[in-house]
Amino acid sequence: MRESDKTTVRTGACPVCGVGCHVEVHVSDGKAVRIKADPKSFVPASCVRSGAALDYHGHPDRLNFPLKRSGSRGEGRWQQISWEEAIDEIAGKLGAIRDKYGPEAVLVLGGSPHGAGDPAAWRWCNLWGTPNYFHLGKNCGEAELPAEWAVYGELTVMSMPAPGVTKCTILWGCNPYESRGPLGWQPFLDAKKQGMKLIVVDPRLTASGREADLWLQLRPGTDGALAFGMLNVIINEGLYDRDFVDKWCLGFEELKGLVGRYPPEKVETITWVPAAKIVEAARTYATSKPALLTMGVANCHLGKGGLSSVLGKCLLRAVTGNLDVEGGNCFGDVPEYTAFLDELHWDKLIDHPLRTRDNVSVNIWPIGSVRALKLFREAMGKIYPKGCGPAHYMVEPGPSCVWTAMLEGKPYPIKAAFTQGTNTLCALANGKRIYQAFKSQNLDLHVAMDHFMTPTAQLADYVLPATDGLERPDLQNPLGQLWGFTNTYSGRGQAVKPLYERRDDYQLWRDLGNKLGQKGYWSDTLEDWFDKLLEPAGIAFRELISRDIPWLFPLPQHKRYEARGFATFSGKVELVPSIFKRLGYEPLPDYEEPAWSPVSSPELAKEYPLILISGGRVRNYHHSAHRQLTKLRRRYPYPLLQIHPEMAKGLGISEGDPVYIETPLGRIRQKAQLVEGIHPQVVHADAYWWYPEQPGMDPCLFGIWDSNINSILPDDLEHSDYAGNNNLRGLLCRVYRVNEL
Ligand code: SF4
Repeated sequence: MRESDKTTVRTGACPVCGVGCHVEVHVSDGKAVRIKADPKSFVPASCVRSGAALDYHGHPDRLNFPLKRSGSRGEGRWQQISWEEAIDEIAGKLGAIRDKYGPEAVLVLGGSPHGAGDPAAWRWCNLWGTPNYFHLGKNCGEAELPAEWAVYGELTVMSMPAPGVTKCTILWGCNPYESRGPLGWQPFLDAKKQGMKLIVVDPRLTASGREADLWLQLRPGTDGALAFGMLNVIINEGLYDRDFVDKWCLGFEELKGLVGRYPPEKVETITWVPAAKIVEAARTYATSKPALLTMGVANCHLGKGGLSSVLGKCLLRAVTGNLDVEGGNCFGDVPEYTAFLDELHWDKLIDHPLRTRDNVSVNIWPIGSVRALKLFREAMGKIYPKGCGPAHYMVEPGPSCVWTAMLEGKPYPIKAAFTQGTNTLCALANGKRIYQAFKSQNLDLHVAMDHFMTPTAQLADYVLPATDGLERPDLQNPLGQLWGFTNTYSGRGQAVKPLYERRDDYQLWRDLGNKLGQKGYWSDTLEDWFDKLLEPAGIAFRELISRDIPWLFPLPQHKRYEARGFATFSGKVELVPSIFKRLGYEPLPDYEEPAWSPVSSPELAKEYPLILISGGRVRNYHHSAHRQLTKLRRRYPYPLLQIHPEMAKGLGISEGDPVYIETPLGRIRQKAQLVEGIHPQVVHADAYWWYPEQPGMDPCLFGIWDSNINSILPDDLEHSDYAGNNNLRGLLCRVYRVNEL
């Protein structure tokens, strides 16, 4: 802290998004008057969004007081109430719901990371006894995780290239230039300068792809076939790591049998990637060691094409011996500096005395369920007796089943929902169905907690104002979350007192917990909870944040499996995952076409001839957030549909024309952007659009139905992947100018 005559300079977390980069806050009269990047931090705020930090913190549309609905849901009539009234009333309703329908009737949905809000919510759910919760993973990268755990019992999704060490990186289904900000993209550029080869797998030539040595422009949704084609080359040409496979892998012959059915020439016909490029990519990846194969959000949105895609990537990492080697796919560290695993109380969920049922999708997608949590814990038990960090991903139900439970009470009713920092209507497929679920008379209680009124919050019964990163202390893993992915932590103090009546999400769960039988479990303040979490590290939170470098780093470790084996049932890498078998999945599945494609549904493709992808990240916005920030909106005012100039010409569409994008579920409007780096038969639609400047009342709901591509994407079982994730990419649509009605 530095003092001057008029202002105090404090450090804090950037308030704009959940990534929580570090800022210097100039405070005068208790108010933040200037916010800039903290130059002393490892993660100084540096993205384009951070320039709007002061606007975000003090935005006139921020939620500042607890609100209670006074009209019908969506009518936009609210009455200001006190926090105490809100907590009393919500707790009373929750208690009644639990008595009548059981603890599983309560659903908690989270969004972008928001301090300790997510872990506090999961902790509350585990103590309460409901396995019905999920967070932004369901429109992000969740599907990669169970596949990694199933094959090698570890996660490598946080791996980054090591400049000078990593010889090759495959960016597969991700665009870190846009999604990870300058800090997250720089290591790729540094590694390239030091000789790393970059292969990019993406239907579009993205900003990251422009740096590639080799770009594989595949047909959307066919990633699994491509992975199997590359494995075919690597195995047939003997380029796999024979020593590693012999010593550590089970199921190699079965894998060889499967990928033998995917010669490059055949894979070319499926994926549109020339066979020569498939061979080149496979050889480059397998012979340039160590090599990194990244996680990719796009692989998690492919519906029926999803499992072979995420599994195929795990198998590539494994047979090339790139697991847990420096510069390759390194394992995440268990969060041992903190008591995170104890404090989340997973055991309480497994053995909860009031819980009689698993989550609502266990019979359809058991890979996310209490049953899966128990099995993974059993498999990992010898190495990780307390399980692993981000275990919530083992429990999360599929969205489609959640809406069914809210609407139809099947397999059992969900009667209460919390939406915490999530604009669910915008974030997930088939927004109209989600809308119906939140409007349903069967739903007795909906509580939203957020920074701004959103289309989703507008349908709530109570809307609670949340603090932003400046207003709360933070203890976080990298990338802003406290989800248990790593053993790296940074701490930040509260830079300014919360404006108005904004509160931490933690306080909501603490207060509800204390009222509903969880007394003794909740520390009074967030700082106190952080002290408790930090006990294993032997440091208090206030001491951590007073350090010049308020971080805890684990020592780098590699090839941990040599001493202890892998955290699977067999202790080996399971190329044919036994846990899939135990949960009823085909353990080594063939590639499957997405449910809507020119191959799987040719009749539909006659009516909807273009292949639709969506949801590519953009630097300006984080998912559905930030549309109300003028500085950002000026730079990116409308959602864009990327279309190839040839196709656009054929359709009579020019740059900037308003166009309709139509699927069998309806149509939305965006503006055409003509780009060369997309196949003429493929279009890409921006996702997560709503218009905070439009009327908030139902039916407009801030223009949620105008441009949000997710509102016209299907969410049925055919359009979900093995973990129930929505099929947001690799679908069919048609496009036409708005005036062609
Ligand atoms: S990524 Fe998010 S937290 Fe980090 S600087 Fe940008 S807006 Fe701020």
